[in-house]
Amino acid sequence: MHAESRRRPVDDHREAVRALIGPALAVARRAEACDLAEELAAAGRGSAAGARVAAADVAAVVDLPGFDNSQMDGYAVRAADLTGAAPSDPVELPVGAPVPAGTQPPPLAPGTAAPVMTGAPIPDGADAVIKIEEVDPPAFPEPGTAATVRFTAPVALGTFVRRAGSDVAAGDVVVLAGTRLGPAQLGVLVAAGVSEVEVAEPPHVLLISTGSELVAAGEPLGPAQLYDANGAALTAALAEVGCRVTHRVVPDDPAALRTVLAEAPDDVALVVTSGGVSAGAYEVVRQTLTDAWFGHVAVQPGGPQGLGTIALGDPTAPRDVPLVAFPGNPVSALVSFELFLRPVLAEATGAVPAHRPPGRAPLAEAVDSPEHLHQVRRGRLDADGRVEMVGGPGSHLLAHLAMATLLVHVPPGVAHVDAGDDVDHWEIR
Ligand code: AMP
Ligand code: MG
Repeated sequence: MHAESRRRPVDDHREAVRALIGPALAVARRAEACDLAEELAAAGRGSAAGARVAAADVAAVVDLPGFDNSQMDGYAVRAADLTGAAPSDPVELPVGAPVPAGTQPPPLAPGTAAPVMTGAPIPDGADAVIKIEEVDPPAFPEPGTAATVRFTAPVALGTFVRRAGSDVAAGDVVVLAGTRLGPAQLGVLVAAGVSEVEVAEPPHVLLISTGSELVAAGEPLGPAQLYDANGAALTAALAEVGCRVTHRVVPDDPAALRTVLAEAPDDVALVVTSGGVSAGAYEVVRQTLTDAWFGHVAVQPGGPQGLGTIALGDPTAPRDVPLVAFPGNPVSALVSFELFLRPVLAEATGAVPAHRPPGRAPLAEAVDSPEHLHQVRRGRLDADGRVEMVGGPGSHLLAHLAMATLLVHVPPGVAHVDAGDDVDHWEIR
């Protein structure tokens, strides 16, 4: 058999990742209480990571609306008082005390009409509101002046009255389990008097950047050293899909990697590594985690991959946790995340939609691709809605990825796509 045909197809590898980590994440997740005021304060500082997801149905504490209120600026009346009103035979009523929002009005005396503002309570006894524009005169009198108002038509019971509980009644579910707490959900929870919500605990991911050449952000850079781009990129990517991340950097030294695994926090549900998975001489992940599968996926970038279960914690009482190992080139690592991990984690957490928005558009330029591989290029739409490449296929071209807005897919079996031919793409921001 030709070596290339033994590469695992992209979809098969994603399914293998899903089969391994899906159940592990489902078991590991617990519910925790989320204080809405704290959550909103964090959101206001722009520091909320992935959206929180309700772990259980949440019920309203108070009715919404909380009291019968007016849908219009107008007059609260008893509909029975206007029976028979007509332009030729208007009903004239004395004007009662006005009702601004935030005040509790006295009951409406029979045979009177009370000015009521939008959202203000309907006085007891009133059962309909007539818009100010439809009465004569079409403006409210100065408060405190004796006045009358004429109505030229009858009104149906309940007109422009928003009934208490017509949006939701106390005790009814306002947010279903599994729903992301987005703007409308946070709004309704606050409106419905809820101050604390059970949310699913974010999965705790141990992210390990491997490479003796790596330097942490902000440290001085020595000869042949480079900054740990993957630590930053994958931390942000994991946080965006609703994970909590502990990040470590290890050199290409099996003992150092073993130490980090032995000292992993107790609640780590998944280990993600970058680097050290190829067939070179200093491949620390592949050489240390020998129980895992290491092989090639038919994709470019991101061909070398690892997947399996590893032992964390005290070696005499180890805990088995899934491992997803990505190659080290920054574009390979992020494209691997997009293809294999993001959809699975998004499904598990519910923090973001499972799929990047897909699209299809003609290429602005011809593209070549290795025929046996699924090639993922970086692109953007030009002014004519055609897909142009941002940089070449190289897996080190991180600055180009940062400028791109699309991942462009050239499927296996295709060696060349002409300008003008359609390609599939995913929107990545
Ligand atoms: P590896 O997969 O370990 O062979 O790494 C492949 C390439 O990616 C090498 O040029 C590494 O220097 C680079 N690389 C590995 N890890 C990182 C990282 N965390 N940040 C930036 N570049 C990296
Ligand atoms: Mg390396």
